[in-house]
Amino acid sequence: TLLLTTNLYINNYCSNTPSVSPQSEFSILPLPLNSPSLDGHLCFENTHHAANDFGNRYHFLPAAVLYPKSVRDISSIVKKVYEMGTTSALTIAARGHGHSLEGQAQASQGVVINMESLQEHKMFFHIGELPYVDVSGGELWINILQEGLKHGLAPKSWTDYLHLTVGGTLSNAGISGQAFRHGPQINNVYELEVVTGTGDIVTCTKKHNADLFYSVLGGLGQFGIITRAKIFIEQTPRRVKWIRLLYSDFSTFCKDQEHLISSENYFEYVEGFVIINRTGLLNNWRSTFSPQDPLQASQFHSEGKTLYCLEIAKYFNPEEIGTINQRIDGFLKELKYIRFTLFISDVSYVEFLDRVHVSEMKLREIGMWEVPHPWLNLLIPKSSINEFAQEVFGNILADTSNGPVLIYPVDKSRWDNETSMVTPQEDLFYLVAFLSSAVPHSTGSDGLEHILTQNRRILDFCDSARLGVKQYLPHYNTQEEWKAHFGTKWEIFKRRKYTYDPLALLSPGQKIFQKEI
Ligand code: FAD
Repeated sequence: TLLLTTNLYINNYCSNTPSVSPQSEFSILPLPLNSPSLDGHLCFENTHHAANDFGNRYHFLPAAVLYPKSVRDISSIVKKVYEMGTTSALTIAARGHGHSLEGQAQASQGVVINMESLQEHKMFFHIGELPYVDVSGGELWINILQEGLKHGLAPKSWTDYLHLTVGGTLSNAGISGQAFRHGPQINNVYELEVVTGTGDIVTCTKKHNADLFYSVLGGLGQFGIITRAKIFIEQTPRRVKWIRLLYSDFSTFCKDQEHLISSENYFEYVEGFVIINRTGLLNNWRSTFSPQDPLQASQFHSEGKTLYCLEIAKYFNPEEIGTINQRIDGFLKELKYIRFTLFISDVSYVEFLDRVHVSEMKLREIGMWEVPHPWLNLLIPKSSINEFAQEVFGNILADTSNGPVLIYPVDKSRWDNETSMVTPQEDLFYLVAFLSSAVPHSTGSDGLEHILTQNRRILDFCDSARLGVKQYLPHYNTQEEWKAHFGTKWEIFKRRKYTYDPLALLSPGQKIFQKEI
């Protein structure tokens, strides 16, 4: 009843209040959200943006959005809700940049915390034996890159897209083409400051409060809200040789990818993608990439074919260009790509790292950015990748895909097993990402229903063929499915939840635990 009263009050309050509620107005609210003071503010209206995300399929309206100015704001709101105990159904979700796919950063009739407004600490680059950058949990990676370039320093491990927050990617893993070398972003953290589900502000590292540190990394927002992180950095190169090579044979493509991530690796970044029946493919690349053999490349047709594109990058400084070109030539000679399909681009470090933003701008122009995104991300053991490719690229997606399909291997021996992140059993596994966009209202093969059916077929195949696959950025509706996802890590995940968020207040949109009332 208390919850109902609160919600009714909030609803009335919203309908009668024309503008964002400042602190003075909110302080007259009844429990649980009244508090003596906040540095930021709570907002009870215009909250619809917090009921949306990049996936554009799940929409849960919160009761309020907190715009924190200090860590204390976050702590006091969490504490308030925690103190209400099981008499209230209120939950709390930290929202980074809202680029989740299935409502993971939403809280139905709860409180969403807009992490980007937390700018209490200025970004700080520490240069010493172990250089790191100290940033807010709501900071965007693109801002860290831009600021870091002023000092010639930047993080080592990235995501393909940088308009995501530190807290958002550290709650998953943060995987990209550098992960084979440095591990995912969760492997590159020195220290965290966390507000736990009881409202306590705790600092943790591998040595100090280590259990909380490892819980939060890859923890899907279940154990605490990351308010600050110290992230390892390195000196930045000025330029990048960005290279694409095509293959028609899948196992040759994989062998070359695996060779490139092996110990003799020379390149800093290794990824790849699948090209299914694309028209004018190489023409589209021309604005950025130069073909080594323009004549042959212009006569190459990709229609009706399934091709595999290896994408690699070599970082360098302009004064090294002579030796870099020679060494790249040497390494490329070892690879078995279709000979004339070598494409090279020479770009700045920022242009390379922020490459997906260029696609974002183009997609926004044609109205294809804010559409439903039924993405499917899988981690596939090396021993299963050929069987997977045969069925998925050779059958389920034989004619077309509705967006990029990324595929690249990573070596788990460089990953820290103690985090909450779940990976397949084998040391070497592939990330395969089906990054589909659905055309709104279409009932055809580019529509949401069709893509979801294809995703289901892929998952069903993985299950029935027992490929040992794990989902990345997972989404399940039942605890049974979550148990299966975590496997042997489930008991420790559950124990950590009871320790750090005993009332299950945090990140309810993941649907792993439900608050009891
Ligand atoms: P949100 O969507 O806001 O939040 C994600 C989850 O984390 C939610 O459960 C939320 O409650 C929780 N959370 C948010 N902030 C905090 C915090 N401070 N403390 C604790 N919990 C928090 N991922 C990769 O690994 N590699 C990629 O290359 C990659 N590329 C992407 C490209 C695009 C275009 C998009 C849309 C996503 C991509 N992702 C990639 C996935 C991305 O890493 C996740 O979706 C990530 O969660 C998005 O960050 P966000 O700041 O938008 O988080």
